[in-house]
Formats: sequence, C-alpha cells, structure tokens
Amino acid sequence: MKISVIGTGYVGLVTGTCLAESGNDVICMDIDKKKIELLNNGNVPIYEPGLEELIKRNVAHGRLSFTTNMSRAVRESSVIFIAVGTPPGENGSADLKYVLGAAEDIARHLNGYKIIVNKSTVPVGTADKVKAVIAGKTKHKFEVVSNPEFLKEGSAIEDFMKPDRIVIGANSARSMQIMHDVYAPFVRKGDRTLVMDVRSAEMTKYASNAMLATKISFINEMANICMSLGADIDSVRRGMGYDKRIGFEFLFPGVGYGGSCFPKDVKALVQTAKEHGFDAKVLKSVEAVNEQQKRVLSDLILSHFAPKKSTRNTRPAKPLSGRTVAVWGLSFKPRTDDMREAPSAVIIHNLLRAGAEIRAHDPVAMHEARKIFKKRITLMEDGYEALRGADALAVVTEWNEFRTPDFQRMKKIMKNPVIFDGRNIYNQEELKKMGFTYYGIGRR
Ligand code: NAD
Repeated sequence: MKISVIGTGYVGLVTGTCLAESGNDVICMDIDKKKIELLNNGNVPIYEPGLEELIKRNVAHGRLSFTTNMSRAVRESSVIFIAVGTPPGENGSADLKYVLGAAEDIARHLNGYKIIVNKSTVPVGTADKVKAVIAGKTKHKFEVVSNPEFLKEGSAIEDFMKPDRIVIGANSARSMQIMHDVYAPFVRKGDRTLVMDVRSAEMTKYASNAMLATKISFINEMANICMSLGADIDSVRRGMGYDKRIGFEFLFPGVGYGGSCFPKDVKALVQTAKEHGFDAKVLKSVEAVNEQQKRVLSDLILSHFAPKKSTRNTRPAKPLSGRTVAVWGLSFKPRTDDMREAPSAVIIHNLLRAGAEIRAHDPVAMHEARKIFKKRITLMEDGYEALRGADALAVVTEWNEFRTPDFQRMKKIMKNPVIFDGRNIYNQEELKKMGFTYYGIGRR
C-alpha cells in the first residue's frame, strides 16, 4: 500500500517506520525542514529504542522516505495518516490548529479517493471538523477515519508492532476494509482490532489516558496518606495488587505523571466535558493531585535541610543556599528523551528557587534539559560525577541504570549520604545499613 504520514514526531515517525517495515511504501512528511533534513541525512531527531536501526533498514530498501513536500505526500498515497501535535490551548482544550492546518494542506493536493486517518489525539467531533475543512476545498471523494494511537514512548516500536488493541472509528465498509488491511500484519496472532463509530474511537483514547492518569494520582494519594499515618505504601501496593480486580499495573507512587499525553489529555477531556455542560469532578481531582505530587520530592528535601521552625512556621528566603543537589533522571519517564511536562522541571525549579545548586544527569535527555535550563544547572555526562560534593541525591526518573548503582562509591564522593528516592527504586533498609539517610514516597 502507498501510505503517507503527516507529522514526523514521536508518533508519526514510529508509525511511518513500522508501516514501512510491514512492506508498505511510506512517505513521512513534516513542515519542520530541520527535522526532515536530519532524517534525510541519516540522523534520527528523537531517542526511541530500536527506531534508528529500523529507519535505516527501510530507507535502504526504498520503502521509507522523508519530505516537506505535502503535494508529493498526498498525491503518491492512498492512505494519509495525520499525526501532528495537539498541544493544550489556553483553556486546556486541545489546540486543533495543527490538525486542521494539515487537513487544509491535504485538501489542496487531493487527486482522487483517499482515506484520511486521524492518529493524533483529538476531542470527540474533530473528525467531523476535519471532514468539513477538506470538503470545503476539494471535489474529490475522501473519507475520514479515527485511529487513535496507544504507543508508549520508550517502547513505541514494540507497542506498534504488537499492539494490545487497534481502535478504528470508520463509517464505511470500504474504509474499514482498508484499515484492516493496513493493520493485518500487526495482529497475526489474534485480531484485536475494534471497529466502532468515529466519536467512540476518539473518546476511547481520552478515556484510556484518563484512566491511567487516575490510577497514578490514586496511588500517589494513597502514598501521601501512608506517609502521614506511618504506613508503608510498598506493602500496601502489594497488598492491593494481588486482587485481580485491581492488579499491579500503574500503581507505583512517584513524583507525578508528565509527558506530552496524560497532562494535556486529562485537561482536554475536562474542558470538552465542560463545553457540553458536564463537570468532570474525578478528572479535575486527578489533575490537582498530580500538580501537588510534583512538589512532594522538593518539599521533602526542604524539610530535611531546612525544617520549618514550629513557632513561626517559616523558612529563610533561600533555605537551600549553599547546598548542592544531584538529580538523576530528567526525562518524564525512562527510555525517552522527551521532557515535555516532565516532573523533573518542576522539582528543579523549586530547588533553584530555594537557592540550591543542581548537578543533573540523564542518560539521553541532556540536550532537551540544556534547552530548558540553559546555564542555571550543571549537566553532567556521568551520573557519579553529578554526585561529587553533593549534599543529596534526588532520583526523579527510574532509568534502569540507576537501580543498582555502586552505593559505596556514591557514599565516598557525596558530601552527605542522603537519598531522596522519587520512584521508590531502592531498598531503604539496605541503604540505612550502609549509612545513607533515605527518603521515599509514602514509605515509612
Ligand atoms: P510531536 O510534537 O513529536 O510531533 C508532531 C509533528 O507534527 C512535529 O514534527 C510538527 O512539526 C509536525 N507538524 C505540525 N503541523 C504540521 C503540518 N501541518 N504538516 C506536517 N507536519 C506538521 O507530537 P507527538 O508526540 O508525535 O504527538 C502527535 C499526536 O499523537 C498528538 O496528538 C499526541 O497527543 C498523540 N499521541 C502521542 C503519543 C506519544 O507518546 N508522544 C502517544 C499516543 C498519541
């Protein structure tokens, strides 16, 4: 099949590459000239495990190409995926300017029947808007299909190649069949394709992300309650998880959810509901709990180094002045360089505001961190070097390589052996035995 993907970001690039890997001729199109130039020179603009190798192979076999030329992308394909960004607008609703802009550009170049597949996460009713925009600009026949994407950064290739399910919102037998054909290679072990009406498909994506965000905020709230009651969230979490109705997935307390999806999708769903006269109380709380959670680790650090005076309940303006905090992990989760809405940014800003010096390390997100923090923090290529002379370590993202570090070495090079474990990855008893002061989230 001849396919084009409009928008070559985390979703578009993975989608295009995986569709090429299954034998299609794929054109990835983007308006970002730099991105396309990088790709055409054999470089990959994002970090995603396994992606580079797959791109190289498919480019070499002539099945995958990159362009800024919308006319070529549209004319040479029969299925056109839209995978552009849908960032939050001013009131939290999804900003559709990129989606509708892409639809308008596609319409200008239509040269026959095509299927336009919306893969971006968009509010219910967007397919109708896309349809209206295109219909206003062309006489050619086309159909708009909704096909939300569920891949996770960090395991995007695996997720796309072996999806838990494929959701397709389509209105005609013809478009349903074509979409089945596109995805057939990915569901050979058992067809987990769910075909439904377009609006339900659009809603399924938001409902799924809202559920996952809710689980995170729920367990974070339980952790905070545990912390004030002297219970241990790790035991509680295990005690809950063996109940099959609850399960273990997504029940890990931490420093709050981030990334380019959960925060914006929860906000957008609250806003869509509001526009239709519904007050999404649960989701508003999910968001509020998450905002609060991003401050828990920096609050623990402040309480340790500058406890509030009980009589006046105040702290000096720069309570961490003269302190150095090493930060391990900057990306919003492991195995990605994505720092959009990363809790690390909130934590570091809080610490900087309190006067701390920051020495930070991340295995792949350093270039993103440099853009965000400029020279306000010191970025260290080596995790241990970040610890040299530090008063404390804050673990913010649970990269595998942070799980079993050389604690003896750490103790030697740190000024104070204090660890604030924002992901509960360490055994606190063992650390205490080794002479560390340890703080986790919701741990006794
Ligand atoms: P991204 O910001 O990484 O990429 C979007 C790309 O679209 C950019 O390269 C941008 O230059 C390009 N673009 C914008 N307007 C364009 C136009 N008119 N023509 C061509 N290209 C254009 O975004 P992303 O993270 O890949 O997300 C894309 C969509 O997929 C969003 O709606 C997001 O919510 C959804 N989604 C993302 C993930 C994820 O993990 N990132 C997972 C599932 C769904």
